[in-house]
Amino acid sequence: MKILVVEDEKKISDIVKAYLQKEGYAVTVASTGSEAIDFLKEGFDLIILDLMLPDIPGEEICEMIRKDSDIPIIMLTAKSDEEDRIKGLGIGADDYVVKPFSPRELVARVKALLRRTKGNKRILSFNGGDLVIDTASLEVRKGNSPLTLTPTEFKLLSTIAERPGQVFTRLQLVNTILGYDFEGYDRTIDAHIKNIRHKIEDDPRNPSYIKTVYGVGYKFIGRLDED
Ligand code: CA
Repeated sequence: MKILVVEDEKKISDIVKAYLQKEGYAVTVASTGSEAIDFLKEGFDLIILDLMLPDIPGEEICEMIRKDSDIPIIMLTAKSDEEDRIKGLGIGADDYVVKPFSPRELVARVKALLRRTKGNKRILSFNGGDLVIDTASLEVRKGNSPLTLTPTEFKLLSTIAERPGQVFTRLQLVNTILGYDFEGYDRTIDAHIKNIRHKIEDDPRNPSYIKTVYGVGYKFIGRLDED
């Protein structure tokens, strides 16, 4: 497993690197944003990204990465204010750790995130088998009955269900369906979500799968079943 640590404070990157190496991860450190972008081509399993970098803000790097990759990203941030955290998750980070942090906690977050994302299971089952999404056969079952979803609905649902708990902005979801950002289109995401809710939720007004995050977008809140 290869991890890229983007952090300009050597004191911090040294500690993080040592802790991760002790756990058997191969660690590369980038001390600037442009160095990080160069390294990215090498391919990593996870990125730890500091927000305050000398050249490019970490937020910008995160958005850049998310344009063509769903690699897990943990943000390191001194900004503990809730709005900043929501913004970080909104632009595609999977998790964040607020500085000062304990290296052991960071390692635990790395492991948890890799467990969550590495599986890339083809069959996702939620809430005790109530909702099953098969990303290979493109089938969805609700309470064991097959559902008919349009290709767009399937793409939207599987995208958010693969990352329970992650907040997706409308624009990110537009990008998922169309492959590029198109501002005028983001409100139609709401219409698609409404249709999906009518198919998968017992009570669409009190959803147990797709939650609206006001002012940001949506997140999937179903409980992934253990195998
Ligand atoms: Ca920094």
